Amino acid sequence: METDCAIALGSNLGDSEQTIEAALARLDRDGMRLRVRSQLYKTAPVGPPQPDYINASAVFHTALPPEQVLQVLLAIEASFGRIRRERWGPRTLDLDLLLYGDQVIDTPRLTLPHPRMHERAFVLVPLAEIAADWQHPLQLQTVAELLGQLDTAGVYPLVA
Ligand code: ADP
Ligand code: MG
Repeated sequence: METDCAIALGSNLGDSEQTIEAALARLDRDGMRLRVRSQLYKTAPVGPPQPDYINASAVFHTALPPEQVLQVLLAIEASFGRIRRERWGPRTLDLDLLLYGDQVIDTPRLTLPHPRMHERAFVLVPLAEIAADWQHPLQLQTVAELLGQLDTAGVYPLVA
């Protein structure tokens, strides 16, 4: 049985545009099938002072269970040279599992939906472009409704 899952991609070190494009291609090979992706956005950083981010989101179809999707995400992050230092600090690649169908999970390794997705414009602006009607299983509002409650200043489409 296959399930839709939504993934957020972010990068603010190195060639971020190329990193995100390459990560999307990797995911499409490593057990996931890309259904739809957003454009790239430039976003102001949250957390310690650091460069702007490039963010995007994508919806994949997969037969992998959520814990295995997370393993794939962490392996791809590592292969792009991500080293975990300070929390929310700069990174070559951040891959977050936002939604997996309507599943709710809370374990030390994996929380679904992603616990901060509904308060982050840099997550919801790209996601609303491709999955506006997806209902958040805990907030009981759609992605578009959640986005409507946020300030989207600092999130801009990256026009090449
Ligand atoms: P953040 O993305 O919030 O800046 P990290 O990328 O450093 O933080 O993630 C730290 C840990 O969060 C990961 O090792 C992973 O085990 C855990 N985690 C829990 N739930 C999720 C999720 N839904 N998506 C991605 N990582 C998650
Ligand atoms: Mg992360």
